Amino acid sequence: MASIGFIGLGNMGGPMADNLVKAGHEVRGFDLSADSVARFVSAGGVAADSIKAAVAGASVVVTMLPAGKHVRDVYTGDDGLISVCEPGTLMIDSSTIDVETARDVIALADAAGHQMLDAPVSGGTTGAAAGTLTFMCGGSDPAFASAKPFLDIMGKNIVHAGGPGNGQAAKVCNNMLLAISMIGTCEAFLMAERLGLDAQRFFDISSTASGQSWSMTTYCPVPGPVPTSPANRDYQPGFAAAMMFKDLDLAKGAAESSKTFTPMGARALELYKEFMDEGGANTDFSGIIKHLAGRK
Ligand code: NAD
Repeated sequence: MASIGFIGLGNMGGPMADNLVKAGHEVRGFDLSADSVARFVSAGGVAADSIKAAVAGASVVVTMLPAGKHVRDVYTGDDGLISVCEPGTLMIDSSTIDVETARDVIALADAAGHQMLDAPVSGGTTGAAAGTLTFMCGGSDPAFASAKPFLDIMGKNIVHAGGPGNGQAAKVCNNMLLAISMIGTCEAFLMAERLGLDAQRFFDISSTASGQSWSMTTYCPVPGPVPTSPANRDYQPGFAAAMMFKDLDLAKGAAESSKTFTPMGARALELYKEFMDEGGANTDFSGIIKHLAGRK
């Protein structure tokens, strides 16, 4: 069994670390929040009071942090992971961050003799608890092969998307597409209703025709056609609009740095901003249908 340091024990990192403990690994966790550490200890983890203490003697480190600046600090700051870990440590960053930071940090980790992957996830807190996350991984073949047994414990679909940063690239492109398809699906249901077409009838037709998408058949933004979708529980998340906004903001940065024209992604960012300003931040992202319904 491996000795694992886990940094960032929040809504996602907490249950991910729990699953490594349940699989029999020795996991030492560190988080700036004492409450998060206490919850982890009650689930069988070992508390560490610093990054250095969490990774002492560890052969594997997993990080699950809010954003790129936290990842940069935790890896490259004074007493950061790259300097305090033993050379040869396997580092897995599962935070959702910008591609550029992921590539910079992996290059620095490689130069210091570590192996590192960016491995952002989809599947949310439910997938984290159930160990059914999808991991989109960027990094070398050996780093991916070393990480796979640990990712298999925390996830169900483990995909190697290519070299460093490609996990983040896959995540940002997928979520930009998801936002666009959700907004399009909402628009279609709203217009169908106003044209006198019943939502269920429209669903029955479009879900088996060329308008079909995941946003329609799995996550339908109107109540009724897909009983498990958040629309049936007053748009409780699920995947919060604030998280989608974060990912669309990352997509905007990626579009700029890659000089890609993404007018639909840019418009989706604006619409999610308006929805959040109206108080929708903690609503499921499919709840944007309420914002669109109120617009002329
Ligand atoms: P969270 O805010 O619940 O957890 C982040 C944790 O990191 C917090 O507990 C915070 O105290 C800790 N932290 C911040 N800086 C730290 C530092 N320097 N040292 C130690 N700990 C530090 O966020 P979350 O929902 O767990 O999300 C984590 C990442 O996963 C984000 O990048 C998010 O975009 C991504 N993500 C979240 C979801 C979701 O449904 N929540 C889904 C997919 C991806």
